[in-house]
Formats: sequence, structure tokens, C-alpha cells
Amino acid sequence: MQYRRFGRTELSLSNFSLGTMRCLSSPQVFYQTVNRAIELGINHLETAPSYGRSEEYLGLAFQRGIPRESVYVTTKVLPTINSVSADAEIRASCQHLQTDYIDCVAIHGINTPEHLTRSIEYIVPELQKLVKQGVIGHIGFSTHGSLDLVLQAIQTGLFEFVNLHYYYFFQRLAPAIAAAQAQDMGVFIISPGDKGGQLFTPPARLMELCQPYHPLSLTYRWLLQDLRVTTLSVGAAEPEELELPVGAGSESLSAEELMVIDRLQAHLETTLDTDFCSQCHACLPCPEDINIPEILRLRNLTVGYEMADYGKYRYRMLENAGHWFPGKRGHHCTECGDCLPRCPQQLKIPELLFDADDRLKSGNGRRLWDH
Ligand code: SF4
Ligand code: SF4
Repeated sequence: MQYRRFGRTELSLSNFSLGTMRCLSSPQVFYQTVNRAIELGINHLETAPSYGRSEEYLGLAFQRGIPRESVYVTTKVLPTINSVSADAEIRASCQHLQTDYIDCVAIHGINTPEHLTRSIEYIVPELQKLVKQGVIGHIGFSTHGSLDLVLQAIQTGLFEFVNLHYYYFFQRLAPAIAAAQAQDMGVFIISPGDKGGQLFTPPARLMELCQPYHPLSLTYRWLLQDLRVTTLSVGAAEPEELELPVGAGSESLSAEELMVIDRLQAHLETTLDTDFCSQCHACLPCPEDINIPEILRLRNLTVGYEMADYGKYRYRMLENAGHWFPGKRGHHCTECGDCLPRCPQQLKIPELLFDADDRLKSGNGRRLWDH
């Protein structure tokens, strides 16, 4: 395990962090998973009031003998308008966690301009008071917002770290990594194994293209060789799920790894040919609020790498997860044509959206918690 400075928090975090939203089948499994994470060198645990009984089980794990001082703990507060005060939320979290100090608090999902305004005007000032009182250590945020919104939030200078969705298969937020570094912020990558492509269970095509590497190992390597990234979260459901990830090193990518990454990109472009969406986002806005780039990203991955299960998992969240996954599905396209002249690839966007909808629709499903 390697450790990196978490930006200007000056904490030294392990390259991997344990996200504790999945190891909740019992307090025993939770304890064993945390214990194994610590044995492997993980020193950062991430929880939230909205992760079911995660805070409570972590409090029990501390009671049962996990030394509180052996780990840094991050929990969250919501920026929504009807949430209770941040002060009350943090004090409730301290009670659940059976601790009087929380190392890091992230505002949970600055996903809209209203969330950012509320954070700046109310939540950050409340949290800053708690920092002065010694109840919490550092303030950051997580987000599902647009690139512009993420950049605005970073540029306020109010936050010491950011929790981002940034993966090999989703590089839209690359400028946010650079902006965070310019502000000397820590960068925590949210669940690259799952949200970054469901890479614990990759399709055969992707496995074959990544040979001799496992797609999960390759994605961890791709992230960790970027020294601007501090730590990657692993949402293990049980201790055994921690073994593969923590084996990934953080040295520069080897010639063979670079060759595999080039092969992945070349295969995507060749397979999609004239249907390849470059993810430039120039097609937006759509009057029907269709999330064109995200739908075509999922189509890219489904056609190119046979990542249909991942595509369905994410597509299902459109129209089901509010501001956590905004925009409408492809079948709402009225073929108005507004987006067409804006697409530098001259893609037949309506046709591709209907095709993506056919490939990816699979009922509404219940939304899994998504940071
Ligand atoms: S053609 Fe479809 S996707 Fe494009 S702007 Fe009109 S409704 Fe939106
Ligand atoms: S403008 Fe075209 S290439 Fe760019 S994201 Fe939209 S559909 Fe994809």
C-alpha cells in the first residue's frame, strides 16, 4: 500500500479507501471488512448517514476494538434545502460513529447550482465553525454535477478535497482534476470498480481486449499513475473483495500497459466507426432535456466493449435518480434536429438515441445509492 498527501488537508491517505456502503449484511461482516482493510494498509474509511447503517456499524466496530486513531473517517452532509442543519447532522454522525472527532466531512452531492449556493451561504460556514470547535478536521464535497459546476465549486477555494467520478471510461471531468490540483485539494475517486464500469464482472470482450491485464487492475493502474489522484474508493461487500484492488501499484504505466490502452481506444473507434461519439458535449442543450452525451457514452461502451450490463445499470438511473443522474432517456427524442448542426462528428443523433434506448432499456429498477 502506498500513501499520498490528501492535498492541503496534509493527511497522508492510503491509495485505496474503504467505502462502507456495501459491507452491511451484519455488524460482523462490517467489522471483518474494516479489519481486513486495515491489515492491508488502508487508513481511510468513507461513510455517510445515507449509507444505511454504515455509521452505526462503524461506531460498533470502534467499540469492538478497531482503534479509532488507526483510521481517518470521512462522512457526509446533504446540501438539500430541507435538510436539518449541518451542525445537527454532524453531531448525529458523531453519536452513531461513537467518536467526538470526524476527520473529513464532504457535502454530499453538490449536483446543482442551488446546492452550490446553499453550500456557500449556509453549510460551509456551519462546518467551518465545527472545524474551529475541533469537531471536524476538513471540508470537501462530492458531486454528480456538470463539469462547469464542479469547476465553479472547486474555484470557490472553500474546499480542501473533492470526491469525483473520473475513470478511464469516463474522462469528462479531467479538467476538474487539474483545477483541484491548482487549489492543492485532495482528490478521492468514487468507486472506480463499480461506477467506473462494473469491472468486478467485466464482459468477455473487454477481458480479451485488456489481456494480459484484468480490466479492473488496468483501471486502477490508469488512475494511480496519475499523481494528482490521492485515493480510490473500494466499496467491498466482504473482506475477500479487497484483495485484488490493493495489489495495484502506482508507478508510471509500462509500455505494455500503454499499448493495451491504445488498443482499447483504437478498438472503440474502429468498431463504432461513423457512430463514435467523442463526448465533446457540444450537442447540448436538448429541448427535451435528453442526456445525449451520457447515453451515447453508454452506447459507445456497449457496442465497443460489450459492456451492456454496465450500460443498462447506468441508463436505468436516467429519470430515476433526480439530480444524481440528470436528463431524460433517448426515446423522448422528438427529432427536432436542434442538436444536429452542433455535432462535430455529424452523428445521426436521434437514430443513435433510439438505438441506445433499444439496447439499454430494462425497466426502471430501484436506484442503488450513488454517492
Ligand atoms: S433531435 Fe432529439 S436529441 Fe436532438 S435536440 Fe431534438 S429532441 Fe434533443
Ligand atoms: S456533439 Fe456529437 S460527438 Fe459531441 S457529445 Fe454530442 S453527439 Fe457526441
